[in-house]
Amino acid sequence: MDIGTSHHALRLETAVDLVNALTGDNRGGTPAYLREDEVGRLAGLAVDLRAVIEALSSGDHDGAAGVLNRLLADSDARPRLHRDGDEPWHLTFHAADADFVRRWTAGLAVAFAAVLGDDSAQRLGCCAAPRCDRVFLDASQGRTKRFCGVACQNRVKAAAYRKRGKIVNVR
Ligand SMILES: [Zn+2]
Repeated sequence: MDIGTSHHALRLETAVDLVNALTGDNRGGTPAYLREDEVGRLAGLAVDLRAVIEALSSGDHDGAAGVLNRLLADSDARPRLHRDGDEPWHLTFHAADADFVRRWTAGLAVAFAAVLGDDSAQRLGCCAAPRCDRVFLDASQGRTKRFCGVACQNRVKAAAYRKRGKIVNVR
């Protein structure tokens, strides 16, 4: 799957943003496309998405499927064709009258369900740095990402360097 262009992969990136913004000890930064009042309403969904990502990153596909099945049912997610006025028809997974939270729940749960077991699901991970609980989607070619970002990577590298330095000093 092409991680850069896939519709579902883009939704996974959105889910990762949401989880990092709204859950965990390192939460922070409202995504630019969300308003402050929307963020509060999406917090429950973000907690569920974190559970899915943590399950997938540890290879627990049964656990991820359990949470996703609940989200799919709760949001009444199913394919529908929709058009606004003269706009072209497009595929949606929520009822036209679904509220904001149900739309997001349906769309993101379908995206995760669609990639469960394929390459994109393997690219979801949790930061390996101590005291960081952010999640990420690894877009690298070799799937080698271990940290949520450069800051954590540098922090771990610096700590390892200091540790080596100490050992040298003791000798
Ligand atoms: Zn991190």
